[in-house]
Amino acid sequence: MTHSRRSFLGGLAVAGAACTRAPEPEPRARPAAAPTEPVIGGPPDPYPVLQEKTGLKITSLETFTQGHVSVVRLRTDDGSEGWGQISTYDADISATVLHRKVAGHFLGRDPADLSDVVDRCIEANYKFPWSYVCRALTGAETAVWDLLAKRADRPVCALIGGAPRPIPAYGSSMSRTISPGDEAKRLVRLRDEQGFRAFKVRVGKENGRDQDQWPGRTEALVPTVRRAVGESISLKADGNSCYTPPKAIEVGRLLEEHAYDHFEEPCPYWELEWTAEVTAALDLPVAGGEQDNDLAQWRRMIAMRAVDIVQPDVCYMGGLLRTLRVARMAEKAGMPCVPHAANLAMVTIFTLHLLAAIPNAGPFLEYSIEDTPWAMGLYEPALEVVNGDVPTPAAPGWGVRVSPSWLEKAEVERSEA
Ligand SMILES: [Mg+2]
Repeated sequence: MTHSRRSFLGGLAVAGAACTRAPEPEPRARPAAAPTEPVIGGPPDPYPVLQEKTGLKITSLETFTQGHVSVVRLRTDDGSEGWGQISTYDADISATVLHRKVAGHFLGRDPADLSDVVDRCIEANYKFPWSYVCRALTGAETAVWDLLAKRADRPVCALIGGAPRPIPAYGSSMSRTISPGDEAKRLVRLRDEQGFRAFKVRVGKENGRDQDQWPGRTEALVPTVRRAVGESISLKADGNSCYTPPKAIEVGRLLEEHAYDHFEEPCPYWELEWTAEVTAALDLPVAGGEQDNDLAQWRRMIAMRAVDIVQPDVCYMGGLLRTLRVARMAEKAGMPCVPHAANLAMVTIFTLHLLAAIPNAGPFLEYSIEDTPWAMGLYEPALEVVNGDVPTPAAPGWGVRVSPSWLEKAEVERSEA
């Protein structure tokens, strides 16, 4: 039996026999258009170093991959070089993506063409959007910044309108397996030994569908940590996409009761409307965006006030320029930017330079307090917490050198013009 469109519509007419004729649909009212400056291929990024050609051409991109990390060396035809880093974890996959899908956009181009190169790379990969392309793009993009800053004999932050400064850090716990009592003890120790004035703890369970890591952990952790560290310490809590809005609001009230000042990623991050509901309901500022790397999604998130504090990750975003675009969108909306930086590989270096430059920098740098041996010894000099602050490296470029002993053990791949 075959069905024609006519017999199908005829069946509907019988089913709806009580109605004589459906009214003509009214044209749907359109909501007023929100301002929509293009986020890719839009107005030039407003940094002087990108306005004037260097006359150089990028000739090679090499990846040095070891474990969770892949660093990038970019060279130009005069022998200059810059160093960057791909986003950590699955670094070998991202390094392959760099050589297959990203490097071709950089080779042969002037380093000062960075805005166009980055945008063309995103557009060309529109069938493979975001995650791995952006992770890989970060490696090449951050290497260009290092090269441009070394040519100018200045730190990267100075090229984007800042100056090196000590940045207060919040000690960021990555652990949900730690008991409330042990978490409180280690935060007190870090407060006393390193001078941290802020911390973040983990509540609920990662993507936990309203469940806790174990029953009662969050209800015990929130007051236990507050009591232990004292009232003068700024406390933040991260839900890692755990909650539906009613549960998020309940946990948010508990955080408010104990004077926490930032509730991060309360709902599955892709559920912007859920997050916006929680943000509207709570007095406590809601933070989010660490997973987001689509600039148009950022524009929507900011326009709808899904969060109060934006948290782009330089390495997930595809590098410094795209993160600066998020920070500028947030600045226009009057929102602070507290970037995500969850380990002590180079993402924290990039974030220090960003925070040292943007006018809407939040008060703290995220600084992992976990032992991550794989990120140790990657670059010199190592970061240090001095009285709760982390100084922005002030030497030219990113201000750190990738350690030769680390490079020796890495697997090398190369793309060249
Ligand atoms: Mg987080």
